[in-house]
Amino acid sequence: MSKATLAVIISRLKMFERPKTHLEQYPTPSEVAATILWNAHMKGLIEDKIIADLGAGTGILGIGALRLGARKVIFVEKDEEAIRILKENLADTEPEKYEIILTDILTEKNLPKVDLVLTNPPFGTKNKHADIGFLNKARDMTKEIYSFHKTSTDNCIQQWIDDEELAVVERFNFKFSLAPTMKQHNKKAHIVEITCWHVKDQKGL
Ligand code: SAH
Repeated sequence: MSKATLAVIISRLKMFERPKTHLEQYPTPSEVAATILWNAHMKGLIEDKIIADLGAGTGILGIGALRLGARKVIFVEKDEEAIRILKENLADTEPEKYEIILTDILTEKNLPKVDLVLTNPPFGTKNKHADIGFLNKARDMTKEIYSFHKTSTDNCIQQWIDDEELAVVERFNFKFSLAPTMKQHNKKAHIVEITCWHVKDQKGL
């Protein structure tokens, strides 16, 4: 497996058919997903690990992790339509390799402990502070997180990281070209600057 092959595998997954604006259903571009997953893989954070994909959508991040040798991926998503597509994308995956939890992450109290959380959460544009809500849930589940946020919210995310006393291992900057799939985009793709944060609790290590 190479990073380029991983990007191709991810690009062949089925996508949201009718992305829902209120749930901020923006898929992670395949090249971006491959870059982040490859980075985690090189740091030894994927192979044989139990990983959660929060706001899994059609499964881009979690399925990529499975292809890189994750022991098990827990997909958490509240939209049944996305889960239907996720299941199609998982058709070739052994059932013991994954679990799908249909729930609202912001209110769910029984999320499992995992080695790593991968998340491209809602950016909090429609549902204010959903991004921080996702981070808090991720934090309850693990000591190590990769999470995507709008670069314009960098200060707010850094504040959360400081409050949680986490360390920033690495930051990645991307430009997402959001396809004109949503009504308000008026048929023009628009570019959004995104930061992916790799953060970690270094206490007790
Ligand atoms: N992880 C996918 C999808 C990102 S879009 C990818 O990388 O391509 C954000 C996802 O979070 C959407 O699938 C949306 O339905 C889901 N979502 C939004 N709010 C949620 C909530 N409160 N609980 C669970 N899932 C939620």
